Amino acid sequence: MEKIVSLCKRRGFIFQSSEIYGGLNGLWDYGPLGVELKRNLKNYWWRVMVHERDDVVGLDGSILMNRAVWKASGHEDTFSDPMVDCRSCKARLRADQLIDKGKGRQCPNCGGKDLTDPRAFNLMFKTYVGATEDESSVTYLRPETAQAIFVQFKNVLEVSRKKLPFGIAQIGKAFRNEINPRNFTFRSREFEQMELEYFCRAEEGMKLLEYWKEERLKFYENIGIARDKLHLLTVPDEERAFYSKGTYDIEYDFPFGRQELEGVAYRTDYDLSQHQKASGKSLEYFDEETKQKFIPHVVEPSAGVDRTVLALICEAYSEDQAPDEKGKMETRLVLRFHPRIAPIKCAVFPLLKNKEQLVAKAKEIVDLLRPQMFVFYDESGAIGRRYRRQDEIGTPFGLTVDFETLGEKDASLRDTVTLRERDSMKQERVAIKDLANILVSRIA
Ligand code: ATP
Repeated sequence: MEKIVSLCKRRGFIFQSSEIYGGLNGLWDYGPLGVELKRNLKNYWWRVMVHERDDVVGLDGSILMNRAVWKASGHEDTFSDPMVDCRSCKARLRADQLIDKGKGRQCPNCGGKDLTDPRAFNLMFKTYVGATEDESSVTYLRPETAQAIFVQFKNVLEVSRKKLPFGIAQIGKAFRNEINPRNFTFRSREFEQMELEYFCRAEEGMKLLEYWKEERLKFYENIGIARDKLHLLTVPDEERAFYSKGTYDIEYDFPFGRQELEGVAYRTDYDLSQHQKASGKSLEYFDEETKQKFIPHVVEPSAGVDRTVLALICEAYSEDQAPDEKGKMETRLVLRFHPRIAPIKCAVFPLLKNKEQLVAKAKEIVDLLRPQMFVFYDESGAIGRRYRRQDEIGTPFGLTVDFETLGEKDASLRDTVTLRERDSMKQERVAIKDLANILVSRIA
């Protein structure tokens, strides 16, 4: 994990938030490459979950909402973790993070046993709306994106004219004042979620839970996470929310252990019923065939953007052996991202930076490809070193413009370039006019 954290900083994937002031625990900033990776992940989720389906539409809700939402949803009363203080080292701990080696509960920090009793600590960040800071202006930064979907259910239903089953998808920030943020970005205080609320009839709930579990497993494979590193946990009855009839956690083998990436939960009609009751507004669905009115049930696949980005980096990280400039074998650090989510898709190199024609041709290729993908131009240093720099950030393709491109040696090679593939390091000769098609099909 240390190697990954240091690569993330050195190459500009992830920085500590407010670093020059000593940082702020549990908060992170995404650098130039991190932001691309994150965006590619979110775009692919949106493509699969919204654009490629007839039965899902999108929403972008506000982060601050009427406090009544959080009362009705149960968050104000129950969205808490049990917290314990260690009287010896003053650490604040989540009760489930204490260690117990058979001799009673111990502090994981100092091994101390002088611990307070657990008490509930609400994870929502409180804030005030408007100029007066009193009880009447209190609200919270949302701890999940889902509630905006439930409270806008009727509006979206009316404008989209969807019939059950159908879903509403949203990607956005969520905030939780985690007692003990840790494992790099895995448990942060500010993070992003990708959530779908898929509304259905009660009798379809269990079947759709199975359907979405399978769809979501496929998603992770399609972004390059090996199936054998993914695990499905059936959340046992006693750990499930009381209103849920079935929940799966999709877990990944992180270097620090097996941990949750996403929850897929059948939440029954709990959320809409709560909001209907509290708001006094009907959130029912009218079935034109049976002429019945009822509150739909919902299945929710809820994924974390940041956790998935971290899983993608962990999965991609690898070291192999490759020859250096002089043919001597050296260790090569390579991020084997699936081309679909790699931050930069293609790097373009003129063989020499002081040969005007090579540089001009390389820049022409950059302009040709830019409308279709994120391309990086690099002319500095030996070509082998340029390849290594791209391997380290996971760029799947490299294009080199050389004297053959100019047709100086062999006229039949005029306007062709070397296309090098990151993982195999294999090179092929490709005509410039075919480049866009070839690359687009490989990164789709
Ligand atoms: P955990 O048990 O790890 O705290 P959770 O079960 O409370 O997670 P959910 O409420 O189901 O999480 O949220 C859905 C998803 O949002 C999680 O699967 C995770 O990917 C993401 N998520 C939740 N909390 C955090 C956090 N503190 N930092 C980063 N991502 C988070």
